Amino acid sequence: MKAIIFDFDGVIHDTYEMAYQINLKISGGNLTREQHRDFFNGNIFEKVVVDEEKEKADSEQFYKLQNKAFEHLKIDASVKSNLEKLSLRYLLFIISSNQEEALNIYFQNNKFVHIFKEILGAETHQSKVEKFKYLFEKYKFKAEDCVFVTDTLGDIIEGNKVGVKTIAVDFGFHKKDRLEKGKPFKIVSSFDEIIKVININ
Ligand SMILES: [Mg+2]
Repeated sequence: MKAIIFDFDGVIHDTYEMAYQINLKISGGNLTREQHRDFFNGNIFEKVVVDEEKEKADSEQFYKLQNKAFEHLKIDASVKSNLEKLSLRYLLFIISSNQEEALNIYFQNNKFVHIFKEILGAETHQSKVEKFKYLFEKYKFKAEDCVFVTDTLGDIIEGNKVGVKTIAVDFGFHKKDRLEKGKPFKIVSSFDEIIKVININ
């Protein structure tokens, strides 16, 4: 194995409550946690949109509020040390549906930009499938050279489309029963367990 590709939200940082509260505010209080979790059953950008103009305004508002909140997020010390450990043996990447702008705020504030070879967000492409293909081509990776670590069913499905093995974490946006539907390679419950699975494979 050569590379570990991480999703960001729910894996590197638990942003669930923050994201839900912002979406709740934008929806005018009209969004349950279950409805919000359902956004991530597939690619977030492929959800059915009734009013495109409103969707665009809402999403601009979301990113504005989120970027402000991201300025205060501090990376967990154990996540940080585990990523440092992994970076000694593997190339690390981020493939996220969040904006690179927000991810850069986070990693710059936490002085941790250098740990990743590349951080690919929504500005690169809205499809994670296309972002995997971009990495495979640029770095001459085969799917089996990589492992993808994520917390949502939608991401597992996108990983499956390019044949990349997924380690799903059940401490993020989706719980174990939902993750199982995507048939990930493994489901783990801590960052330490991710290390264990990666080192024996
Ligand atoms: Mg996620």
